[in-house]
Amino acid sequence: MSPLDNFTFPFTAIVGQEKIKKSLILNAINPSIGGVLIKGDKGTGKTTAVRALADLLPSIKVVKGCPFNCDPDDKTNMCPLCKSRDKIKVEKKKMKVVELPLGATEDRVVGTLDIKKALNEGIKALEPGLLAEANRNILYVDEINLLDDHLVDVLLDAAAYGINRVEREGISISHPSRFILVGTMNPAEGELRPQLADRIGLHITAKSITDIKDRVKIMERRERFERDPIGFREEFKDKQEKLRKRILKARKLLDKVEISQELMELIARVCLNAGVDGHRADIAILKTSKTIAAYNGRKEVNIDDIKEAISLVLEERILGRKLGKNQISKVVERAKEEMKKDKIETSAKARAKELTKGSGEFFLGSKSTSHIQAVGKRNIEDKDVNIDLKKF
Ligand SMILES: [Zn+2]
Repeated sequence: MSPLDNFTFPFTAIVGQEKIKKSLILNAINPSIGGVLIKGDKGTGKTTAVRALADLLPSIKVVKGCPFNCDPDDKTNMCPLCKSRDKIKVEKKKMKVVELPLGATEDRVVGTLDIKKALNEGIKALEPGLLAEANRNILYVDEINLLDDHLVDVLLDAAAYGINRVEREGISISHPSRFILVGTMNPAEGELRPQLADRIGLHITAKSITDIKDRVKIMERRERFERDPIGFREEFKDKQEKLRKRILKARKLLDKVEISQELMELIARVCLNAGVDGHRADIAILKTSKTIAAYNGRKEVNIDDIKEAISLVLEERILGRKLGKNQISKVVERAKEEMKKDKIETSAKARAKELTKGSGEFFLGSKSTSHIQAVGKRNIEDKDVNIDLKKF
């Protein structure tokens, strides 16, 4: 632990901002969710929360001496240097927040390549940049919507492939760069490029807290922390440890979490009805709901996990704009209704098929639905008439 760690405000001492905290925790459990975009005004504690998350997270195992923090247990995503090592030494490193400042040069972000050295020494010729440091850590971009276009391109590439590729004069060197992307923005200052926004899994809004008691608590805690950071951190030590263990447990459980076919269909319907482009939102909701289940210690996704995931993935992205806030339940109910209707139609179709094959008496005494009985009746009245199933 570096001496500076004593001056990080504890994650569990943050008052309110539940959505920010939850989004960060879920990404810490499952980085493949794709990061968080936090919209809102300045001074709502976004930066504090992100820094506090890194401080909370358990250390990670890395290959000793690797500038890209390669995972010793993940051979497929290793840098060329680690792949070529005969023996791998392992060390533990604390996760960190790597900040990408708006004015950063491309070299600072992707790294600089010594062309002469590159021909003979490959990856060793690369002076690592921020994307190297960010591998397996948190990449934080404050005011991400104001980032220069060329840096957005770089981020897009890294987010899409998990790789940072440095190309100079026909030479190409690449290394792993998988990070939890956390961006903040004030929408009044401009939109984020849609391609990048689309890549970020969770979109939420940070709001100032309006509850008086909570606002008082924020002042009290902030003052106590500034007066005696070590003592304050000591006070929250147990809570921090408890949450850290919960995250670790959820990480282990995540692979075992299952979801029913019906709930998958529900996700697809909600996304389709919301008019989202492509399939990224569906996948983000699926991953997020599984992670929520794991965080709650369950191996099976339930409807509440889905609703929460929809709110984190879609509410800010689409639903808020199109339908207004607090529409999650309605959207889910509508999808459920459609599924119910579909089920009835499918079974009616199946029964109708049987009926057209057999005699008209088939329906008598069966436990069929009114739809099917209707089909049966018509079938009796005129056995040769083809049933138009589209009507049901
Ligand atoms: Zn490496």
